[in-house]
Amino acid sequence: MVQAFLVKYAEIGIKGKNRYQFENALVRRVRERLARCEGEFLVEKEQGRVYIEAKGEFDEEEVLEGLSHVFGIAHICPVVLIEDKSFENVSRELVAHMREEIGDRPFTFKVFAKRSDKGYPIKSPEICARAGECILEQMENARVDVRNPEIKVYIEIRGRAYIYVSSIKGPGGMPVGTSDRSMLLLSGGIDSPVAGYMMAKRGVQIEAVYFHAPPYTSERAKQKVVDLARLISEYTGPVRLHIVNFTDIQLYIYDQCPHDELTVIMRRYMMRIAEKIARERRCLSLITGESVGQVASQTMQSLAATDAVCGMPVFRPLIAFDKNDIIELAEKINTFETSIQPFEDCCTIFVAKHPVTKPSIGKMEESEKKLAEKIADMMAKAIEERETIYVRPE
Ligand code: ATP
Ligand code: MG
Repeated sequence: MVQAFLVKYAEIGIKGKNRYQFENALVRRVRERLARCEGEFLVEKEQGRVYIEAKGEFDEEEVLEGLSHVFGIAHICPVVLIEDKSFENVSRELVAHMREEIGDRPFTFKVFAKRSDKGYPIKSPEICARAGECILEQMENARVDVRNPEIKVYIEIRGRAYIYVSSIKGPGGMPVGTSDRSMLLLSGGIDSPVAGYMMAKRGVQIEAVYFHAPPYTSERAKQKVVDLARLISEYTGPVRLHIVNFTDIQLYIYDQCPHDELTVIMRRYMMRIAEKIARERRCLSLITGESVGQVASQTMQSLAATDAVCGMPVFRPLIAFDKNDIIELAEKINTFETSIQPFEDCCTIFVAKHPVTKPSIGKMEESEKKLAEKIADMMAKAIEERETIYVRPE
């Protein structure tokens, strides 16, 4: 019976101090995720791996599903732990486990053995040979292939014996918390949740800001963003979501500035506000869901116009993605259905019929001078009065 899991991670590029941080973060993220599963688990790191041992009852499917959301995991192997490590008992348990995992279908295999308990009477090469014989004798569907085995059979002799034969691909990436914190501009659309997911996969801890424009955008549009934050939190961990009331600023821009420039000027104010909140929250960068050429506001000139007001890096992980590929990812991380619910986000209400697609930064700055009287106070007020929701996974 599977009672433990071996978590393997890709070690490339994580040496020295980085490795220690990587492992500690991975252990923490695994513990947090398992705390939401039924059962009690012991999670420990050991020689380039993380071991999870269940104390008593648990649901294997639930654990595997949970771990499939923990970045940093390259592979997960369900492990059978054997107290009585006499070779006869180990080989009996091994064959039983293989029957359960593999069934009757033909397969090729190779045995790998490791004897950490040097007092164990049989040496590793002999464990391999004898275990191989047992498998061949008792499983008609088994055939040895030392070059390219389909099933790698692992036997490790320590205080107890550990056996595992299957390896499930994990989500990869780096554990969240191994990089710094970043502020995601999260709208109700398809792209920005995917952008947040992608940065979290590189170990970045995510906070989010949403610009809400009641009554032009409904409570349901806001709820949709909260729902999206909750969905990505399955991967990113809890997300602190800042909801900024953008209505007055939007109306002020609408009154004072040329309408073909509205989108870009609005976006410049979103970035400015997002950066201020980011600094307050010690985030070192911003993230958006933009991709070049997707809509009028995502030409290179428009991207340059928004970058020009930011004093911190703006990461756009989807910049070269096709919409279809973004949708595929959105489906994979389960945000797509929520993203396509038809509630207006604030940009769609105030869009001009013919927005500028090649804004000049100089012209934008000129137009923004018309906002000089009130905009600083309005921004300060919007930031001060923002609502903050700490969104946890379900
Ligand atoms: P998305 O699907 O992420 O909404 P989009 O294709 O609709 O993107 P835009 O509306 O031009 O593109 O927005 C580009 C990016 O600006 C978004 O990906 C998001 O990061 C940010 N953004 C847009 N509107 C808002 C908003 N109301 N609140 C927070 N961020 C926003
Ligand atoms: Mg949008």
